[in-house]
Amino acid sequence: MIKAKIAPQNPEANLGSYDEICSRFSWGDVEKQFTWYHTHQLNIAHEAIDRWADNPNTANHNALIFEKSGEIKTYTYRDLKIISNKWANLLKQYGFKIGDRLFIFLDPCPEIYFAMLAAAKLGVLFCPLFASLGYDELEERIENGKPRGILTNPDMDEWLPHDDMQAVQHVLLTHGPAPGLSAKETVVEGLADSMTDQFSTRWVDAQTPLYLLYTSGSTGPPKGVVHAHRDMIGQLISARYVLNLTPNSVLWADCDPAWVTGTVYGAFAPWLCGATSVIQADPFLTSTWYRTLERHNITVWYKTPRAMRRLMEAGEDLVGRYDFSSLKHIAVVGEALAPEIIYWFKKNFKITPHDTWWMTETGMICIANFPSMEIKPGSMGKPLPGIEAAIIDEKGRRLPDLTMGELALKPGWPAMMTGIWEDERRYKDYFRLPEWFLTGDMAIREPDGYYYHQGRTDDLIKIGVKLIGPYEIERALCQHPAVREAAVISKPAHPGEPRIKAFISINKNVTPSARLNQEIKAFVKAKLSSEVVLKEIVFMEEIPKTRSGKILRRALRAQDMGLPIGDHMKIKDF
Ligand code: ATP
Ligand code: MG
Repeated sequence: MIKAKIAPQNPEANLGSYDEICSRFSWGDVEKQFTWYHTHQLNIAHEAIDRWADNPNTANHNALIFEKSGEIKTYTYRDLKIISNKWANLLKQYGFKIGDRLFIFLDPCPEIYFAMLAAAKLGVLFCPLFASLGYDELEERIENGKPRGILTNPDMDEWLPHDDMQAVQHVLLTHGPAPGLSAKETVVEGLADSMTDQFSTRWVDAQTPLYLLYTSGSTGPPKGVVHAHRDMIGQLISARYVLNLTPNSVLWADCDPAWVTGTVYGAFAPWLCGATSVIQADPFLTSTWYRTLERHNITVWYKTPRAMRRLMEAGEDLVGRYDFSSLKHIAVVGEALAPEIIYWFKKNFKITPHDTWWMTETGMICIANFPSMEIKPGSMGKPLPGIEAAIIDEKGRRLPDLTMGELALKPGWPAMMTGIWEDERRYKDYFRLPEWFLTGDMAIREPDGYYYHQGRTDDLIKIGVKLIGPYEIERALCQHPAVREAAVISKPAHPGEPRIKAFISINKNVTPSARLNQEIKAFVKAKLSSEVVLKEIVFMEEIPKTRSGKILRRALRAQDMGLPIGDHMKIKDF
């Protein structure tokens, strides 16, 4: 564990210290900040967009800036209110009503956000999907979610006759030639424009489902996680404290809404704060990314460690060519944030990245390094105010500090999922121990309250009587100068004596060799302990990842056992 601490990034953030924030915090006080608390009329689209649009002081403030291939489209809060009203009328015309599902199967484009807001206004659940899903993956999700309609752009003529597509009544094509369309298909381009811009938002109960999102699929087939309108309370608080968003903030949380980070922090959370959200939809290119930061005067940047590593690989020299003077915070999510990434950004951007931990199921950031607290590199930080976390054993008993166990949260925070779609058993499994929501992640807590992520429960490696997370070994591997990325899995040879196998992608200027192999094995032993013996090292060009960019250890395990790797396991191109 790293003992170093980095001073608070932004003591002037004006939020007070972590302890101060926690001591005066109550969820009830947060609820009072929403108009719904006074009007008893709740809808997240109203709180996120219409509330600002109806106020002349904020109506013309930018809500969304969308950039693709050099083209920039800007939408104010007023624009988004009008457009989402029109889209809500369009969906209504196609018979969408409260409780129906709308699947959105598109590459990032502004229409995704219009449709999400429109669906929310109707009480319809929206479900953004990665446009890169293969037919089988799409079919699996449609069979599970039974959407009334799909908003997409590929022509689905060939797919519609399939049995599991029966639930789909409408395929709404964002673009496309009208001739040759089947009865279920409609081109909506221009249609939404022709709708009236007046729409009476459907007021809903706090627990009314808002969105359905399939998890990343890192540990098994993706689960359809359901979230409700009430999530907004947690979204607002996490955005305010962890990302420090205010109406003056320009946030770039560059993610497809098919990953929960893109839905929550690319859209609703910044809007609930009255801030501007920037979406950059071009494929990763260091210069494009740096230009986006500069051009839009981004103040808060929310990224994955993987993307940050790619920026590091592009070198320090590039950083100096751009003006990043607007940038105040860099926050990171998805996987453990290696200390070397923190130090690189601190050196080159003069900003210390903050790790944030959460899951699709939690609906909001739950553990984080706040800008107003000291950062301990390697730690994901402390629980948010209003969130109670613990490290527990398999019976649900709290473990003492510095002992690894499962990370658990006390159920009841406002953004907690309300269900797993059509799978009560899987939902209940998260709550199988009394009093806890089980995360499936292993962690350690230090006496000063900082949490350290150790890996998934499925990925743990047992050495003798000791359990260690793959992350510890991967981190040691990444400290070797030849190693670019590493993933570690174990296969039990004899009980307590695992065969540890490392998959390594090496830096471009290095050639794999038997000597390098031996050198890396010795390096890890020296870094960790003589008990950590790497039995095998496989050099790969690219470690397999989920679409949200996470290492797929289960794919590596499957491959190792000669099992099919599965369709969800594509190498992510970013
Ligand atoms: P699936 O549930 O389908 O296996 P997934 O768990 O990767 O996929 P997500 O909900 O996108 O799907 O990711 C949540 C998981 O990501 C967490 O359980 C945790 O393992 C990991 N994670 C998120 N943030 C962090 C972080 N800051 N540090 C370490 N791990 C993180
Ligand atoms: Mg998960």
